[in-house]
Amino acid sequence: MRTRIVTGNWKMNRSLAEGESLVRDIRSQLKGPKCEVIIAPPFIHLASAKKWLEGSGIKLAAQNCCSENDGAYTGEVSAKMIKDCGAEYVIIGHSERRKYYHETNALLLKKTERALENELKVIYCVGETLTERESKFHFDAVQQQVQDMYFLLRGDQLENIIIAYEPVWAIGTGKTASPAQAQEMHAYIRSLVEQKKGKAVADALRILYGGSCTADNAPELFGQADVDGGLIGGASLKAADFVKIVQAAG
Ligand code: PEP
Repeated sequence: MRTRIVTGNWKMNRSLAEGESLVRDIRSQLKGPKCEVIIAPPFIHLASAKKWLEGSGIKLAAQNCCSENDGAYTGEVSAKMIKDCGAEYVIIGHSERRKYYHETNALLLKKTERALENELKVIYCVGETLTERESKFHFDAVQQQVQDMYFLLRGDQLENIIIAYEPVWAIGTGKTASPAQAQEMHAYIRSLVEQKKGKAVADALRILYGGSCTADNAPELFGQADVDGGLIGGASLKAADFVKIVQAAG
């Protein structure tokens, strides 16, 4: 059995005081979750968030990391610094990073390697654009993203990778993939991994769904055999909604 994960990606939202109050509300409403719960606040809040989360069992993720370990990279934050702040996870390859900051699969592989070297677990995002889906290129697009990262890692690194399938057309748009569409792509990703890395690795891989996941649609999405939880954007900014989504994961 794979332990499910629900991760809240706050993106560039919430002031320090608002973040603290959001965590306080989540903590007061969340009773004994059976899945792993992770929040990913902006970098600047990580060290504070570690304190807000003390004793809660909720884990911490960064939303990005630098592809280098240290040096003259003004404005960047290294995986080691993230680890020092008490985070256990880092999100890499979010479609907003790919789109607005032109992050390529090659760069994202370097970021993944730096994260793993610094003992962070990686939530690696893949997903097709609307044009790719409409031209029936969605399986190829996702295959390329998985192949350019996951298949290039050593066997012992794979247990620290979680894949998040986030169709770009579903992120922040209110257009959720149907449970059938999500299951189809998750099963496809797992089959790719099985072909290349074997059944045991494929069976252990956690694949999260992301893209307009809400308290209403989470139960059906998480009810799919290959959906192991969610990466949640907008709905993670409201404690009541986020908690309902966590509860939907079991
Ligand atoms: C995300 O940012 O990863 C995401 C899935 O956003 P939203 O839930 O708002 O679509």
